[in-house]
Parts: sequence; structure tokens; C-alpha cells
Amino acid sequence: MSNSPFSISLLAQIIAGRTVLPDPDAVIFQLVTDSRNIRDAAGALFLAIRAQRNGHDFIPQAYEAGVRNFVVSQETDTSLYPGANFIFVADTLRALQQLAAFRRSLFRIPVIGITGSNGKTIVKEWLYQLLHEDYDIVRSPMSYNSQIGVPLSVWQMSDRHNLAVFEAGISTRGEMEALEAIIQPDIGILTNIGEAHNQGFDSKKEKLTEKLKLFTGAEWFIYSPDYTGAPDVSALPGKKKFSWSTRGPADLQVTSIKPSTGSTQIEALYRGEQHSCIIPFSDKASIENALICWATLLVLGYSPAEAVKRLGRLTGVDMRLTLISGIENCSVIDDSYSADSSSLAIALDFLNLQNQHPQKTVILSDLLETGKTKEVLYAGIASLLRQKGVDRFIGIGENLSAMANLFPADAAFYPDTDAFIAAFPDISFANEAILIKGARRFEFERISKLLTLKTHNTVLEVHLNALAHNLNHYRSLLKPGVKTMAMVKAFSYGSGSYEIANLLQYQKVDYLAVAYADEGVALRKAGIRLPLMVMSPDPAVFEAMIRYGMAPEIYNIPVLKSFMHFLPDHVEPFNIHLKLDTGMHRLGFGKDDLPELLQLLLSEKIKVESVFTHLVASDEAKHDAFTAQQLARFDEMYAAITAQLGYQPLRHALNTSGISRFPDAQMDMVRIGIGLYGFDSAARDTDDLQTVLMLKTTVSQVTTLPVGETVGYGRSGTLPAGGTIATVKIGYADGYDRRFGNGVGKMMIRGRLVPTVGSICMDMCMLDVSGIEVRVGDEVIVFDAQHSIATLAAQIGTIPYEILTSVSQRVKRVYFY
Ligand SMILES: *Cc1c(COP(=O)(O)O)cnc(C)c1O
Repeated sequence: MSNSPFSISLLAQIIAGRTVLPDPDAVIFQLVTDSRNIRDAAGALFLAIRAQRNGHDFIPQAYEAGVRNFVVSQETDTSLYPGANFIFVADTLRALQQLAAFRRSLFRIPVIGITGSNGKTIVKEWLYQLLHEDYDIVRSPMSYNSQIGVPLSVWQMSDRHNLAVFEAGISTRGEMEALEAIIQPDIGILTNIGEAHNQGFDSKKEKLTEKLKLFTGAEWFIYSPDYTGAPDVSALPGKKKFSWSTRGPADLQVTSIKPSTGSTQIEALYRGEQHSCIIPFSDKASIENALICWATLLVLGYSPAEAVKRLGRLTGVDMRLTLISGIENCSVIDDSYSADSSSLAIALDFLNLQNQHPQKTVILSDLLETGKTKEVLYAGIASLLRQKGVDRFIGIGENLSAMANLFPADAAFYPDTDAFIAAFPDISFANEAILIKGARRFEFERISKLLTLKTHNTVLEVHLNALAHNLNHYRSLLKPGVKTMAMVKAFSYGSGSYEIANLLQYQKVDYLAVAYADEGVALRKAGIRLPLMVMSPDPAVFEAMIRYGMAPEIYNIPVLKSFMHFLPDHVEPFNIHLKLDTGMHRLGFGKDDLPELLQLLLSEKIKVESVFTHLVASDEAKHDAFTAQQLARFDEMYAAITAQLGYQPLRHALNTSGISRFPDAQMDMVRIGIGLYGFDSAARDTDDLQTVLMLKTTVSQVTTLPVGETVGYGRSGTLPAGGTIATVKIGYADGYDRRFGNGVGKMMIRGRLVPTVGSICMDMCMLDVSGIEVRVGDEVIVFDAQHSIATLAAQIGTIPYEILTSVSQRVKRVYFY
């Protein structure tokens, strides 16, 4: 068994659910928990799971997309979904896990299970690199290791695989048992369990005990006493054990580690013999992960010589997709890390988010997948490309070229990367989103260089997954039904335009708000269809507002009158948002304006979509009485307005810190801004938020400074004892404020925090790097998760908002997904 699909009736028996099955013979290939990941709607089973969002809310969408099989736990009116099969269970997550466990039970192939706090994904990907020539491996996609990710990973097992590698991650006690039942590993691997005291566990020991539950039934357990601290081996799981250590006796006993630039020589004792291995990495984490892989190769029966040879060929694992602007107004998604069908599907989803270009293009290399015939493999790829709406296809490699007939007639094929590069001057690319995806050996980074613009060496990295995480964190604080408006004004707080809006649209926020109409027009032109509010409309842009379907924020009588005057007669009423001033005294209708406002609202030309106010001190407890007063004034004015209108527009008041502090004032919608970027002075637990933005630059010169010399304009920089300075490519024109000069600001270089020397210049500034070995071209971190924007803001007496929005437009934004 079996690629062969299961009938819905069989699956219903396995999860023991009550059924409504108009089509009991329907066959299921794919399990889906996210309506956006549906590949083949007819063969999909949608499980409505309550995670950060309630999956039941997406049943209509999944049905619309063609799905006809559902597992639900909420009462659902099945008559709304003609022809669809429904299975009712108490717990849909549990049902997903039962289905995966059932599938797992059908296979007898060796399964490697990996857990630990750090390194799971790298070890999994490296084992794939080390073993894929000998095995047809099924593995967790990306880092799918959660209560939902693990069952979805295991569900991929099929007849053609002869080895499985899955990772499992847990965040609190009690979770591992469920994952153990699904993975049932034969070989267990424990990676670094980390020192951090985790939420969800009382102690490190409790965390370790919970993790080890994954290996309860394992034949082999691969571990390091350096982590487990357990000389008492009998307490560890696994019938057979294999240990490695850098500190003492072990099956694989490391006797010396010599890192140099870019590689490390490791000596180790195995079965009484000394072996030497050179790995192409020198950081501590990579060395540990390589040792774990070394141990695993030995357990799998590889000779020490073969193991050492393979470890020498490891390559870095960068699972992130990057989006950069390219030549001729193209956007380029660079993914030269791997080429297999599951990561291709993920990359195509990201390509699909790019609405800013009319055309989507894929440049793909031969896939390094065995086990399927070429015909089956590439027919699958061709159909995936069709489903995902790819307009243009370029295939590179002998295999793809041989299968050209499976692809559309206008697809182009080249036997290898050199042939493509030779032809490049004659191939035209313009205004398209291009996904470059190739296996390592095709060296597609050469293609990505041709397609992307040369970078000025200062970049703002924007981590889209972290942004989505932060959004979902705030949504998890909302009561059911409360909508979200994402504030993307000021170039999304400096982080981007359609790149951010595409993600927010995909994440299904309800509204976007921009400050000015032109920001909104840019979003509409880039394919953003969400309702848009424009906060500072003025008569010059009314026409554009109407043409592009953007609703104005109306904040006083003159603006309302001029907008109504502008609107043509006898058309559908146009949506507007009313802003009430309850204490900010910036823009908004005050109480005195009410009589005239109410009179004007009788007009049939407009429809009030929402009424809102803005809190002036939602983050400060000392002003809570004032906040309460603002909310009370708002309620009162809102009541007067609805009494006049006879319908109830959406009400909203909370910004980011308001969401954290005033759960009872969520009303119908909240407006989230800076929280998306991981800042919230009112957050109860900052661990809930992830860092989205990192600003990096590079060293352009290193100079030794003799005693008595000065640095920079006005001679303000001095190093009394002399020393070394590094000139870096960021200045006040990039947004690095002049107030950071003369040691006020600090940057990270080679892991060390160093101060500025002298004043900040327009395009550059100087750092005191005395005593640190620094070279031209070294990366310099202006801010990141450790050296945070909040710290920078404090240094110059401002707020994170200003630091964020100051990063100038000439700094290139690179998006990671
Ligand atoms: C900018 C803005 C917000 C978002 O505020 P954050 O503190 O960044 O969450 C909300 N409402 C209005 C009216 C705004 O102008």
C-alpha cells in the first residue's frame, strides 16, 4: 500500500465521525487545512481546524474552489453545500492526526524522526542531501513540524518511497505523544535542546523528557550526552543507542575541532580508529549538525570512509525564498536551493502572491527526484504549473528538454545553464514575476545575477513570515467576527508597498488603509483588490478615488461637502469612513459638528461604511481614564449617527497597543499598524512577536588611525589611543540619523557591537573597530532582532515608528518568505 487513494467512507470510519455522504465513493488524495493550499480540489479533504483562525470560516471558500469533502466539528448546515460530503467529529485536529497515523501504519519503510530545539530542519535537509542518491526519500516540507505540520508531512508517504525523514517540534507538554503516534520513528535523532527556558515547560529537564517521548518505540536512538546530560543511558529511549560527544567518551568521540575560514576539520574516534572529516562550514551550529549527520550515516551502515566523503560535500540550507526587484520592471523570486515537487509547490504559491505583474514566469531545472518515471514526474510538474497559472515556462536540463512535449508549445528549453546564459541576450523579460528554481548543481545563482539589478550594498531585509506571524498573533487576541484593517500608510511603515499588501491580502485582512490616494493607486495597479481607506483625501484626488474604488476618510464638514459635491448624482451610494475626534485634536468631527453632519448624512450619494476614532495614549496606563473618556465620547456620537442613518456602520478605535490593552473596545474592527513589524510597547509578552526588519550594510574601507588624527567632517571623531576604523555604506541620506554620530549609535560587525566615530556623512559613516579583525565587504548590522530598532530609537530619543519610516527609498528592500 499505497498511493492508491482512500474513499471518503473509509476515512470516515477511521475517524469515527457522524457522516452526511451524498457521494460515499469519493476518493481522497490530499488533506488540506488551509483553503489556499488546495491543489486538486476534487481529491481534497478539507479539515476545518481551529488554529489562529477558525477553519470553519473558510468552508464556503473551499467549496467555491471545488472541494466536496469536509471534516468539521461545528454545526454546519450541509444543505448550503449541495453534493458535498461532511464528516462531523468532536476534534478536527485529532481527526487529521488519526488519518496520518493510519497512513503511516501502512508502510514498513525506515522512518527517521528528529526532534530538538535547534537544528531539526537543517539536520533533516542535510540527511536528504547525504542520502538521496541511495534512497527515495519522503521528508517534511520546509519546517512542517507542528501538530498540523507533522500529519500533513506524513500523509505524503507513498509506495515509491523507501526512506522517510520527519521532524517534530513541540511548544508545550503533552504534545509529543500525538506526534509519536503519527511518526512512529524507527531511528530517533535528538538535536540540540537549547538552554533557553521555554514557555510551556517548567524546566529544561521537563522539556527534554517531553521531547524524548518521540522515541518511545524507536529501534535506534542517536544522541549526545552533551545535551541529555545523561550518563544513565538505561533511562533513554531506543533499543539500541548511538552517542556522539565533543567532551568525553562516546560511540563517535570527537577529539579535535579546528575551524578555519569557511571550513572545519573534525577528528573523531570510532570503533578504536581515528577518522578525519572536513566540512565546508565553520560555525558552531553547523559543526554540531554535521556531527549528528555523521552519527546517522554510521548507524545506517555507511563505512566511515564513505561517511566522511559525503559530509565534505554538504551545502548550506537556505530555505527562504527571496523576492527582489529585477531588470525591466520584473520581480524575481530566487530559489536556487533545491528542486523537488513539494518545494516547487510552495515557491509557486509565493509566485502567485505577486499580483503586481500581468505575467508569471518559471525558470526551472531538472528535478533531482528519482522513483517516478520521467514521464510521470514531469507530467505532474506540467499540471502543477497549469494549476498555479504560470504563463511562461523555461526548462533547463537534459531531462526537461526531453519532456518538452508535456509542456505548452511556447515553453523554451535549454540543455544546461550555460546554454541559457549564452542565449540570454536574445530572450526578453519585461514586467513579469519570475521564479528561478533550480537544483544546486545547475548554479542558478548565475541566472539570478543576470535578472536582478545590481544592489547598492545597504539592504533592508523584510521577513514576510514574521509579519504574517505577528498579524496572526493579534488576530488571535480578537473576539470572533472582529475585522482587521491593516495600516499600510507611509510605504507600510517603510517596509514596502505591494510586497506587503500582497501578503496581507493573502492573509485575508479585511481592509487596508493608506495615508494618500497615490499610495492606494499604486496598490490597485499592483492587483490589490481589498477595500482601501484613504486617510487624507483632498479634492485633487477625488476622481482617482472613485476610479480606483477607494473610500475616503471624511474628517470634517468642508471635506464632506466637497466630496458630496464632486460625486455624480443618481449613482450607487459611495462608501465613506467617518473619523470622530474624541481627544486627539488632529482631524475628525467634534461633538459640535454633529447637527450639521447628521443633516448632510441624509444624502443618498453616500453610505457610511465605518465610523472610527483614534486613541491618543492607548499604550499608557496613566492615561487610561482619558482613554475611557475617549471611548465614551465615541459611543455617544456613534449612537447619534446611527440613529440618523438607520443602519449600523462598522465601529473601530483600537491601534496596535489598544488591541493589547483594551480587549473590550474591539468593537467591529481594529486597526493594526506597528504591531505587524513586531513593536508593541504594550505587549504583555514580547516573545509573541517576531522581528520583521533587518537593516544591513557593508564595509567599504578599513583604515588604521594614528594617534592625534581625527575622523570625518568638523574633526569631531577622535580615537585618543589611535586604532582602526571601518567606513560603512550608510549615511543620513539612507535614513541613518545624524544624531547617531560620535559614538551615540552602534552597529554589529562580526558579532561585536561597535560605536560610530565622527559625524554621520550623507552616504557613509565610520565605526571604531579597533581590536576586531574586519575586512572590506564584511556585513554590518544596523538593526536586527538582537540590536533592535527599539534600542536605536532610545539612543536618539525617538520612537520606533520614526526609525522605521526613515529608512530611505534608495535602500533596497529584499523580501524573504
Ligand atoms: C497609524 C494609525 C493606526 C495604527 O497605529 P499603530 O500604533 O501603528 O498600530 C491606527 N489608526 C490610525 C488612524 C492611524 O493613523
